Amino acid sequence: MRRRLVAGNWKMNGTAGDLQVAARVADSSADARCSVVICPPASLLDRMSAQVSGSPVETGGQDCHAARSGAHTGDISAPMLADAGASFCIVGHSERRLAHGESNDQVLAKAQATISAGLTAILCIGETGDERRSDTTLAVTRAQLAECIPPGATHRELVIAYEPVWAIGSGQTATDAQIAEVHRFIRQVCGEIGGPDLAGNIRLLYGGSVNPANASRIFALEDVDGGLIGGASLKADDFLEIIGAA
Ligand code: PEP
Repeated sequence: MRRRLVAGNWKMNGTAGDLQVAARVADSSADARCSVVICPPASLLDRMSAQVSGSPVETGGQDCHAARSGAHTGDISAPMLADAGASFCIVGHSERRLAHGESNDQVLAKAQATISAGLTAILCIGETGDERRSDTTLAVTRAQLAECIPPGATHRELVIAYEPVWAIGSGQTATDAQIAEVHRFIRQVCGEIGGPDLAGNIRLLYGGSVNPANASRIFALEDVDGGLIGGASLKADDFLEIIGAA
């Protein structure tokens, strides 16, 4: 049985006062039957990790540098995230790929660094609107998986988040049929890359405008093991409803 996972990506949102959102989520998640992760901005990671310690809520980084340390002004490494209490790190989010020009090679290096630091990588993949319209979604997805999954990665070290770029922050959720098709395909390609153990056990999250109204429907789809939640993870009530749906 794959344990469901709901991860919140706060993006560049949140200052000290917003830690009360994580506190409420931690307090209300004692009986959660899924894994819960919050990925705050790096400035809050240490404090949030301490705050949720002892609850089922875990924390994660939103990105990391591929190197352990060095002359990389403004960057943060995976060992630093671990030192700040993180257990997860998002890599390859489309906002990093698009706004920072991250290639599949760079995302692979970040996923490897994440795993080497003892964290679980949440690897984001997904097609742009143009790619969907030109019917290349599955080809793009296959290439991202083939080029970004670290060789030998296990289901404990890696989670895949399918996030159609056009669905992120747009209020335009992918249809059930679109999600089901791509998730089935991702599991098949994971099998080709990592064998039946990876295919059967890796958790596949859907991300893109998940909210309390659509979460139950999406999480009920075959091959969907939870969600990566942006905007709705910033409000404790909404995030808790989504956790409840999982
Ligand atoms: C995301 O940024 O990973 C995301 C899924 O955002 P939203 O839920 O706001 O679409």
